[in-house]
Amino acid sequence: MFVNKERYLQLFSALQDKNVCLVAVSKTKPVAAIEELYALGHCDFGENYVQELLSKSAILPKDIRWHFIGHLQSNKVKQIIPFVHLIHGVDSEKLLLEIQKQALKAGRQVAVLLQMHISKEETKYGLDEEELNVILTHIKKGSFPNVIIRGLMGMASFTDNLLQVRDEFRVLKMHFDNAKNNIGNSMFDTLSMGMSGDYQIALEEGSTMVRIGSLLFGQRN
Ligand SMILES: *Cc1c(COP(=O)(O)O)cnc(C)c1O
Repeated sequence: MFVNKERYLQLFSALQDKNVCLVAVSKTKPVAAIEELYALGHCDFGENYVQELLSKSAILPKDIRWHFIGHLQSNKVKQIIPFVHLIHGVDSEKLLLEIQKQALKAGRQVAVLLQMHISKEETKYGLDEEELNVILTHIKKGSFPNVIIRGLMGMASFTDNLLQVRDEFRVLKMHFDNAKNNIGNSMFDTLSMGMSGDYQIALEEGSTMVRIGSLLFGQRN
């Protein structure tokens, strides 16, 4: 037993009522943990590391929707392009160009989220407003025909200061609304924000997708 089933069912139905997608973050957890949740009907799983994603996806059911939520290096894009469902952490135009290139080669359209830097921590990846606007301009010009820009993703500071977390989510939601207006595309509909410790605040601030690991699978080592 890897999964807190009661908690999962409760969480899933609460999120479904709000039309919010639950990405179960299975990084570092065994295949058996994913199978347990899959058996309950869950299809969206999130992984942070390319190698781990490759080895898990090779043996698990093909209808699992794999979300890549970690920091993606350009030289590893090629390996996940054939099957990835959504890449959450696109934080540079260089990476977007590589995704375009590999998606074209693979003959598919790949969905991505642009990651914004919203926390006060320097170590977290992400775009600032100016970088976002430059990328949006190029997207509007049609530079990435094999990429579907579905929305934005961000991580709040790791802090007990819930007011700060809320403020950071608000900033992300503001960027999301602005970008949505700017890009004028109905496919731009996904705001990935909220993890085990802060998803309730994220929901109050307009999240449409939460990435939850430890709450479902227990603490990671
Ligand atoms: C690990 C991780 C999560 C899940 O974290 P929990 O606190 O276990 O819910 C969500 N998003 C990203 C980007 C992560 O790396």
